[in-house]
Amino acid sequence: MDLKRFLVFAAFLLHAALGFPIQENYENSTATTEPTEVTTQEDIYESPLPTETDEEDEDIFDKILKVNKDSSQFLQEGDIVPRRSRSAINCRHCNWPQSSDGIVRIPYVLDPTYEESHVKGIHDAMAEFEALTCINFVKRKAERDYLSIRSADGCWSNYGRVGGGQTVSVMKGGCMWKGVIQHELEHALGFLHEHSRSDRDKHVKIMWEYISPADRPDFKKFENSNNLGLPYDYSSVMHYGPYTFTNTTGKATIVPIPDGSVPIGQRQGMSNLDVAKINKLYNCSRCSTILDGPSGSLTSANHPKNYSDNTNCVWLLRTRSRKVSLHFQAFQLQKTRGCQGDYVKVYDGSSKSSPVLMDKTCGSKIPNDIVASSNLMLVEFITDGAHTASGFQATFTAVRRQRRSSIHN
Ligand SMILES: [Zn+2]
Repeated sequence: MDLKRFLVFAAFLLHAALGFPIQENYENSTATTEPTEVTTQEDIYESPLPTETDEEDEDIFDKILKVNKDSSQFLQEGDIVPRRSRSAINCRHCNWPQSSDGIVRIPYVLDPTYEESHVKGIHDAMAEFEALTCINFVKRKAERDYLSIRSADGCWSNYGRVGGGQTVSVMKGGCMWKGVIQHELEHALGFLHEHSRSDRDKHVKIMWEYISPADRPDFKKFENSNNLGLPYDYSSVMHYGPYTFTNTTGKATIVPIPDGSVPIGQRQGMSNLDVAKINKLYNCSRCSTILDGPSGSLTSANHPKNYSDNTNCVWLLRTRSRKVSLHFQAFQLQKTRGCQGDYVKVYDGSSKSSPVLMDKTCGSKIPNDIVASSNLMLVEFITDGAHTASGFQATFTAVRRQRRSSIHN
């Protein structure tokens, strides 16, 4: 190949590499100061999926604000569509109805302009509600009240059910993060921002001097908020980050008290208290736990004593790096044909509709180690009404993520 043809070919390759359409949803989220690498197709596929952990370590709420600053929608507190009646903040009649089977089914329609990856991101965010709470998001048939999830201008939602079709805006370029989607869906379920709770002054100090007068109403406290008898949650997906609305770079607007170093704002998705609050508000009887440390352990109730009959528990393992690995240390379950009685089942993802990693398992043989394909794994433990045993004990760790560079080095 002569030099000229080589240069043309090289230019073509470079164009093909750099011009590859990176999914829109990462556009606003990939600005980093890291050294630029030549982008290859493989790198693009390694970009965080909409449902994955944000590598940039940016608070969920800061992502929301970044997108919403260009929104023409009038918003309160950064992302809430004001109600016509302002006194409705107590939201007594704006919960979604519960079916007789205890499930709260919330009908939704999706913007037809969403592409497959957007739809998957939204479904993944919804699936965690279904796995951990009694909230199920279901495709709308003819229900009067429903969520219209659209790529409007920004990430925003109404507070609670307002009647008819109500928009939850999940814009394609910037809102397609699991935590952001869950934040907006929680507003629609009837939750306010955590730091606007009536008791917030016992837990955080609002640094008014760093908040411009125009933004101060966004830090309003709701004296009659429904706190559900559950503790203040610094790690709620509904909490602002420390620098939200600051007018002075480096100066926090919300400081936890008494210990200012407690992390606030969220990057991963719903917290255990977020889940507990949903279950309390909607009278769900659910046994569900999120384990989101880099490693940890889980056991069946009472272990090593016998577990109870008729239990139904799930653990969502959510590590920060890419793959979660599960290791059983003890395993003793009632043995039945096909494990139809008591069993443990493990899913590759955050919901029971995720692929199965370990199908129903019972008896006393310790299962092999299990590695998920991502940072999410769901462990389900079901027991029937007859016979018990000592149950199980397991540990999990994050398997170090393999970057291409380390594979080739
Ligand atoms: Zn919000």
